[in-house]
Amino acid sequence: MHTGYVKELDVEKKPFEELFEPEYLRETVPEFPSSSEPELMRHFIELSIKNHHVDKGMYPLGSCTMKYNPKISEDMARLEGFIHLHPETPVDSIQGALELMYELGESLKEISGLDAISLQPKAGAHGELTGLLITKAYFQSIKEDRKTILIPDTAHGTNPASSTRAGFKVRKVKSNEDGILEPASLNEEMNEDVALLMITNPNTLGIFETHIGELADILHTNGSLLYMDGANLNAIMGKAKPSDFGVDIMHFNLHKTFSTPHGGGGPGSGPVAVTSKLSRFLPVPIIFYNGESYYFDWELKNSIGKVAAFYGAFSVMVKAYTYIQLLGASGIKEVSEQAVINSNYLLTQLKEVFDLPYGKNCMHEFVLSGSNLKEYGIRTLDIAKRLLDYGYHAPTIYFPLIVPEALMIEPTETESKESLDGFIKAMKNIAEEAKTEPDTVKKAPFNTPIGRLDEVKANRELNVR
Ligand SMILES: *Cc1c(COP(=O)(O)O)cnc(C)c1O
Repeated sequence: MHTGYVKELDVEKKPFEELFEPEYLRETVPEFPSSSEPELMRHFIELSIKNHHVDKGMYPLGSCTMKYNPKISEDMARLEGFIHLHPETPVDSIQGALELMYELGESLKEISGLDAISLQPKAGAHGELTGLLITKAYFQSIKEDRKTILIPDTAHGTNPASSTRAGFKVRKVKSNEDGILEPASLNEEMNEDVALLMITNPNTLGIFETHIGELADILHTNGSLLYMDGANLNAIMGKAKPSDFGVDIMHFNLHKTFSTPHGGGGPGSGPVAVTSKLSRFLPVPIIFYNGESYYFDWELKNSIGKVAAFYGAFSVMVKAYTYIQLLGASGIKEVSEQAVINSNYLLTQLKEVFDLPYGKNCMHEFVLSGSNLKEYGIRTLDIAKRLLDYGYHAPTIYFPLIVPEALMIEPTETESKESLDGFIKAMKNIAEEAKTEPDTVKKAPFNTPIGRLDEVKANRELNVR
């Protein structure tokens, strides 16, 4: 057996029989079902056809960027040298992997304009928690016991959840009638207990927070920090650097912006970048390069400690690195531009048939309201279900909470004009059907493997068979 890099087993070896009660041990091998390779292939291909996925059709989900993920990223993540790496391998044997992580960190620093980074957190929400623990450590270091996190009313649910989890108290700040945060409303909430404002920019309405610089000034004057939830980075990367508008901490969602498939419960990654003032609190180890080789620095004195097993989700980092290298600086910029153009094209067409409560145009996503179809007895849920019959994944619905009957749509940059036109046609048809044959819309979907579910019953009587 190859034991070269792996540490000696430090758990006492025991025979099998000592580990389990006799009643749990079989005498004979059970008759496992068996199937041939073609049967197995047909089974999985059949499942993949039944499911909707981004390789099959458009996925206009708002809030989560569900973009096409170039296949080359998958190829790179499956390179022999990467998949057979053991995390305990000594650093002089994994210089390539360390270089990749280091360079990915450098790229993300460049994109954010921030000074230091940890790739450890494994999701956006995990990045939030990490950023908040860093915040806590920072205020402890200057002997301040600040407890309040301010969060706009448009925020994603993970923001208040992470804040509470990290031991802070959450206070909501109201957006104005244009769907953005006004310096005056922030000022009203400011006091010496405010640790930070956690803001998504562009926000979940797909609107850029144009007062962000002023908001940052108000916070900094008060000794507070500005946290940016980077889930919507797909709209601004390469175009605007968060550090330029005063961000102190941000997380990235590599599985949204930087091409890792998600939504199926696969691994994610939520790197956290900070200004130099906060860098000594980052999780350990930090990857360093001394001009000759790469190494892990475990000696960060004020570190909040480790936040993930080993170094985080390495395969996701390989995909993000590949994606960034593939596009280069100009390509990254083009992604943002195209995502915003596509989104505005959809918005212009769809506001003819649905309400648009906030904003005249948008960034990478926008939020419509289906309230105008209520008079026909149609709710947003019905529209989402009917879309499935047209071969589209449903958009995010009933979020953000400040929009009644919300339909949150993000086309992403890779959809062509033809595919956007197809989606527009489907949405317009449904709006028409809502008036002419509301029963069809209410009972949809008809073309999916399973029809309309009783969602309450499905929750109460869980049956996953
Ligand atoms: C997706 C999302 C999150 C949470 O990220 P996860 O990676 O799903 O944990 C947080 N904020 C916003 C705005 C998001 O869209």
